[in-house]
Amino acid sequence: MPVPLLDVNAQNLPLEAELKEVFDKVLSSGRFILGEEVDAFEQECAAALGAKHAVSVSSGTDALIVSLMALGIGPGDEVLCPSFTFFATAGSISRTGATPVFCDVCPVCFGIDIDSARAKLSPNTKAIVPVHLYGQSADMDSVLAFANEHGLKVVEDVAQSFGATYKGRNCGTIGDLGCFSFFPSKNLGGFGDGGLVTTGSDELAETLLRLRNHGMHPRYYHSTVGGNFRMDALQCALLRVKLRHIKSYEDGRSRNAAYYIERLAALPGVVQASEADCCCPPGQASGTAAAKLILPVAYRGNGHVWNQFTLRVPGEGRRDALREHLAGKGIGCEVYYPVPMHRQQCFADLPGHSLGDCQVSDLLSSEVLSIPVYPELVESQLEEVVAAISSFLS
Ligand SMILES: *Cc1c(COP(=O)(O)O)cnc(C)c1O
Repeated sequence: MPVPLLDVNAQNLPLEAELKEVFDKVLSSGRFILGEEVDAFEQECAAALGAKHAVSVSSGTDALIVSLMALGIGPGDEVLCPSFTFFATAGSISRTGATPVFCDVCPVCFGIDIDSARAKLSPNTKAIVPVHLYGQSADMDSVLAFANEHGLKVVEDVAQSFGATYKGRNCGTIGDLGCFSFFPSKNLGGFGDGGLVTTGSDELAETLLRLRNHGMHPRYYHSTVGGNFRMDALQCALLRVKLRHIKSYEDGRSRNAAYYIERLAALPGVVQASEADCCCPPGQASGTAAAKLILPVAYRGNGHVWNQFTLRVPGEGRRDALREHLAGKGIGCEVYYPVPMHRQQCFADLPGHSLGDCQVSDLLSSEVLSIPVYPELVESQLEEVVAAISSFLS
């Protein structure tokens, strides 16, 4: 049986009747921009995430852009972000006119490395964008301590981590603003593009509401320049249906991750990364020096929501060999992400960055491989993935 990396139909088709019902409701309402469904979706997201305010927007990328705009970030400003992330984190900073400054990451939790961030601080640094990659929180205590010490704003990129927690707090409610995505492959996956910004600040929430609608308030009066960053009423209505199931999606992902960890850790040469090695250089991490495969770890204080289950496959060319081996057996897998931001052509001319600066990001981009972990996988599929990896290692 083939095992795709993701099967959106397996999640959406069981809800078909309900989804068609809300589609009909929106269709007959004739109300497609803002309005009741949008308000209700925002309130339900705020409740689910423990956020004071939630403002829906057109995508996760736009969530980041509009958040940075709300903080007044623009030309002349620098914003720290990890080099090892999806492009939108860095691209959004650039699109405000500010300069993204790439920091290295931790090889264990994959979050931004604050020692690296400290080395990149300048008088122009205004904000830091930690990314909660693959479904697990970045080390927010050190992010907040660093940000407070230097008066930086904190914009969390929670695109991959809807529902994740850090020491009991929801990711996206820890910094000044939290940016979520409803791209179909995310944990709350929509039917097209959509995004959300959370904040505890009344003032920022007010600014976000205006910015997403051309900076308009009242109607046809513009005191600032915003844009069209609205999320469709139809998308909100459909996602309200899926939001009711988010806990079972999380449980399914956790169950699959636990299965992989138990079964793969038993294979020779496979070790699990250790929380005790957080941010320590990869070569010095305990027990991983001779590893053929390194499994991800959920930190004790974190609620990991496993948007991706990402292996590290050390050794020249071995990651790509495993990728081909799995593909040959009909098992979906993908490299998130093969080129770190500090090596992207579009950022080659940025001032003050050198290619040698983010060595962990370079290493990870050559070692990572994400395997199927979506909630609807059945045990025989998980078994097939484990057997395929086992045959690769032997
Ligand atoms: C998906 C993603 C985004 C962008 O979200 P879109 O909704 O696709 O615009 C931003 N950051 C990270 C880390 C992501 O994974």
